[in-house]
Amino acid sequence: MSGRFAPSPTGELHLGNLRTALLAWLAARSTGRDFLVRMEDLDLVTSSPVHERQQLADLAAIGLDHDGEVVRQSERFDLYRAHIERLEHDGRVYRCYCTRREIRDEIDAAVSAPHGLPDGAYPGTCRDLTPDERTEREAEGRSPAIRLRTEGEWIDFDDRVLGHQRGRVDDVVLARADGVPAYNLAVVVDDELQGVDQVVRGDDLASSTPRQILLQQLLGFERPEYQHVPLVLGPTGRRLAKRDGAVSVSELAAEGWTTHDLVAVLARSVGLASSSEPSSTITAERLVDRYDPALLPTGPSTYAELQAFRG
Ligand code: GLU
Repeated sequence: MSGRFAPSPTGELHLGNLRTALLAWLAARSTGRDFLVRMEDLDLVTSSPVHERQQLADLAAIGLDHDGEVVRQSERFDLYRAHIERLEHDGRVYRCYCTRREIRDEIDAAVSAPHGLPDGAYPGTCRDLTPDERTEREAEGRSPAIRLRTEGEWIDFDDRVLGHQRGRVDDVVLARADGVPAYNLAVVVDDELQGVDQVVRGDDLASSTPRQILLQQLLGFERPEYQHVPLVLGPTGRRLAKRDGAVSVSELAAEGWTTHDLVAVLARSVGLASSSEPSSTITAERLVDRYDPALLPTGPSTYAELQAFRG
């Protein structure tokens, strides 16, 4: 039984990522689970070992230890491809030759979005190409992405933070046209093979969960428990990012924050500590017994609110 934190090593962790990591660690430790760290470095262009080292150091700095070796998705492409082959064998994939632009144009031209599908759902252009149509596209030099062939499935799940959720699954990409396996497939394969039965992550991924649950069902995997936790937003209302100011452990340290301040702010912002408790007494370890996903807020925090919690 394990929980996990699965960052993409594409930059320094910011307050939002750190809060998700803290909550994932608390969820695992408060239920006697191992806590794994997995580097989601499928994008070989933006990922780097320098960021990986930095992120691991930041997690350690706020008191989050992990079990076992860090797993890197970049080292597991063969595993992901083997699972795509299983789906192909079952007739659940097809090749898609569309460019992003063609997909966008088609979505824009549609009268209304199909009920229940996630934003930007693939309109199915290449679902039923004839062999001649496929040959034609290949002759144009197009390399295909591999998509899941869905059948209008609706998926229900109970999220320990958000409550009951329901969504329809689209023909999600399983491997990009350049052969790189896609996030939704990789995450499902890894969680199963790593024995992860508790998934805690940002609530921006709740809309992808029906896709992942359908993939689990098709591959005969167990469904983990889900806790989608709130994000931290920057001043423009979008997910916090580097451009929003001092947001990483090193930047905040340069502004005089201790790691106790950092953990205290993250804890207070989700109701796990009160402002009257001195920061110096708050550690990740001391929060373990207080953690209950049902009591977390379901709406986002802003960077300004977090700063105010420093006291
Ligand atoms: N790698 C994803 C991220 O950094 C998280 C994926 C997951 O937890 O399933 O947002």
